[in-house]
Amino acid sequence: MGLAHVTAARIFKNGPDGESLYLETLPTIGYQRTHSASDSLTDSAAAASAWASGEKFNNGEISCHDDDENGRCEPAPDPTILEIAKAKGKATGLVVTSTATHATPAAFGAHVASRRCEKEIARQYIQVTKVDVILGGGREKFKSTEKQADECGTSGDFIAAAESNGYQVVYTKKALDGVVAKGSRKILGLFTPKGKTPELFRLYPEDYYKAEEPTLPQMTAAALETVEKDEDGFFLLVEGSQIDWASHRNDVAYQIGETLAFDEAVKVVLDWVSKKPNRRQKTLVIISADHETGGFAINGVEGRNYKPGDIVDHGWTGAGHTAGDTMIWSQGPGSKYLGRVVDNTDLYKVMLEVLK
Ligand SMILES: [Zn+2]
Repeated sequence: MGLAHVTAARIFKNGPDGESLYLETLPTIGYQRTHSASDSLTDSAAAASAWASGEKFNNGEISCHDDDENGRCEPAPDPTILEIAKAKGKATGLVVTSTATHATPAAFGAHVASRRCEKEIARQYIQVTKVDVILGGGREKFKSTEKQADECGTSGDFIAAAESNGYQVVYTKKALDGVVAKGSRKILGLFTPKGKTPELFRLYPEDYYKAEEPTLPQMTAAALETVEKDEDGFFLLVEGSQIDWASHRNDVAYQIGETLAFDEAVKVVLDWVSKKPNRRQKTLVIISADHETGGFAINGVEGRNYKPGDIVDHGWTGAGHTAGDTMIWSQGPGSKYLGRVVDNTDLYKVMLEVLK
């Protein structure tokens, strides 16, 4: 998500002079370099690993240095910020609209040489890292036969493994609401076989709700209601994963829908934080993008003044990621270190300091 993505979404929702998006209201603003160890142009695996583990990784690596190319992580990887939070007794959660095992969440909850090892990532979530709340798509990554093994050679029934490890496993919004209301502390919610239905369909609610899936803001609320029960606090990652997918397709309506859905999830978080003084004091909120996709820009057309509901005139430089710096909006403890120009690895350092 580049800054022009935010502008386009804001104009669509509120017009050029209208109110800010929720994510724009955070008081501290900075930006970051996004390059990976191997490439000036990062992928999501290396970028998320930089956030999660505080080091530069090669494109494709999930919090794992595969220096000798044997597919194992050597030297042994340092714990991710999620694992450190877990070791401190905090609850942990991953909420995404991609497969739950996609590169961004994976970098926080697993260590694998290749982002394509999504079944191994599922195994590590459930059997090794034991992330408390996992909500997203990608049911098929959690249950596979030997023939369907990923390139790490992993297959298996990690849904059954989750159930025997104390998770409540749910596939619909109704079931999710049910287990949240019952006070479950470990939830695996896999609402689609692959990525979730695009949030775009929030613009057309009749179609959307046929899917019986929770929206990104609904998943965010469910995750918060669960992890907040831990008196030691929590680490929660929420990703509007398909802002990237929409931009790979150069599909502006899809992109605006995903960006606005993500912004509604931000509102859920900000409302949660502002409810109690204690939360305002102790909760670090960071909103950022791991890279921009599509080279999306808003073009000026002489004499045109956009109104709410308009899709801006725009152009794309391509269908891939771009290498420009990305924004960071933040508030709460440690955020003062993010109101400047930083490297993506610095987000880890600030989170670590706050966790101490
Ligand atoms: Zn991408």
